[in-house]
Amino acid sequence: MNKNSSNTMALAPNTSNKRETVCIFGTGDFGRALGHKMIQSGYPVVYGSRSTQISNLIPKDAEVLGHAEAAQKAAIIIIAIQRQHYNFLTPLAEVLRGKVLVDISNNLKLNQYPESNAEHLAQLLPGSKVVKAFNTVSAWALQSGTLDASRQVFVCGDDVAAKEMVMNIVRALGLTPVDKGSLLAAQEIENYPLQLFPMWKFPIFLSLGLTAFFFLYCVVLDIIYTYIYEKNDFSFFIAITIPNRVCPVMALILLALVYLPGIFAAIIQLYRGTKYRRFPDWLDKWMQCRKQLGLIALAFASLHAVFTLVTPLRAFASWRTGKGIISQALNNKTEPLDHTNAWLSDSYLALGILGFFLFVLLGITSLPSVSNNVNWREFRFVQSKLGYLALIMCTAHTLVYGGKWFLSPSAYKWYLPNIYILSLIVPCAVLVVKFVLIFPCIDKRLTQIRQGWERNPKYSKQSNHVINKSAV
Ligand code: NAP
Repeated sequence: MNKNSSNTMALAPNTSNKRETVCIFGTGDFGRALGHKMIQSGYPVVYGSRSTQISNLIPKDAEVLGHAEAAQKAAIIIIAIQRQHYNFLTPLAEVLRGKVLVDISNNLKLNQYPESNAEHLAQLLPGSKVVKAFNTVSAWALQSGTLDASRQVFVCGDDVAAKEMVMNIVRALGLTPVDKGSLLAAQEIENYPLQLFPMWKFPIFLSLGLTAFFFLYCVVLDIIYTYIYEKNDFSFFIAITIPNRVCPVMALILLALVYLPGIFAAIIQLYRGTKYRRFPDWLDKWMQCRKQLGLIALAFASLHAVFTLVTPLRAFASWRTGKGIISQALNNKTEPLDHTNAWLSDSYLALGILGFFLFVLLGITSLPSVSNNVNWREFRFVQSKLGYLALIMCTAHTLVYGGKWFLSPSAYKWYLPNIYILSLIVPCAVLVVKFVLIFPCIDKRLTQIRQGWERNPKYSKQSNHVINKSAV
């Protein structure tokens, strides 16, 4: 096949129903898994390998040839070989001229090489059209069939027609291609499989740290203090009582921490009188992980709801109820219903239920399948307005729960406040400052700043002119 015919073959649209042959270089794990999936989807597959011996592992309908011979049979060649072996492709440059080369490789470390593997391949074979794809899909998932149609395949490349051909294959395999632009995006795509929950690290470490702190705090006040001063062994509190104290506290604090960076951002913008200056790095990072903080808060709130539902089933709860009834019987006196207490208890439960409902609503709207179906205004309405309402409800739930008891000296063991009092500090601070920020005179100025107004326009002439994200 001459050079021109291979060029035409690479970019000619497929008008018949028959799929075009795809060549895969490398009969390793990924090459075999992808070849198997392609054969299932109707693509004739030819392997280019160092050894043309057919093994049992190779899909039975596939052909195995030498690299040069296999490459001539297809317009698209998938390079299922590690980057360190790419040099063997240089002598094949003429055969590969005009062909679409799909780089699927990954590295062992983030930013392992100065340029991405796909860019390296494009430098080695300037006459070919390199497209990056499939690197975020595992051989195991391809083989076991655990891929579903929502599984995204990131695709990038400088040649639009070549990229479209690869995206068509992705679709034919039942996957969803996501066009990430030119080959410059390859480095980012190659880093994806190496990242370990990048947006979750800070929220998870923060939650673990705070949970450990509050758990120990409760152990000291509810178990050790009671043991020393009242000679009561309440060590079983570790199983349900203390977790049911820590979970709501964590849920409330983390929910407040979702809205606190927005407050800081607003204060910084008001102080600077412009939005055209970067926020400090710590604030940028904090704002980027608000969704994760919110989801962890929702998990704690859900645990609190479950722990609360099982409370009446506990031996301790029935013992305490029985004790109350027996003491009334012994004293031959029925305690009258305390209407104030009844109101307080029903109100805090109602506030908790409403707060939890709004919390769940926030969690649902943060799911990509839901958030993709609402416009920006609707999303902001739910996440900002209903989010603040959820924070108000949950803060009120805690305040009403504590009621007058927060003011009683018995709530302060060893002069330490109860954790519910500690949990109110951040949410109350957020709500008070937010209340100040929505005063018309302040809100008007903030809105002007977010629409581009500047008190001191010198910032707009500054070096990089980066626009801060407007804080929710
Ligand atoms: P593998 O099982 O080690 O297979 C690599 C294949 O490369 C070998 O079977 C061999 O095929 C060929 N090869 C090895 N040394 C060579 C050399 N010196 N010259 C020419 N060809 C050579 O690796 P793999 O797991 O399939 O991964 C292949 C590529 O896919 C890697 O870049 C990897 O990052 C990427 N990837 C893998 C996965 C996965 O789940 N495994 C997922 C995404 C991306 P022949 O013996 O047929 O020549």
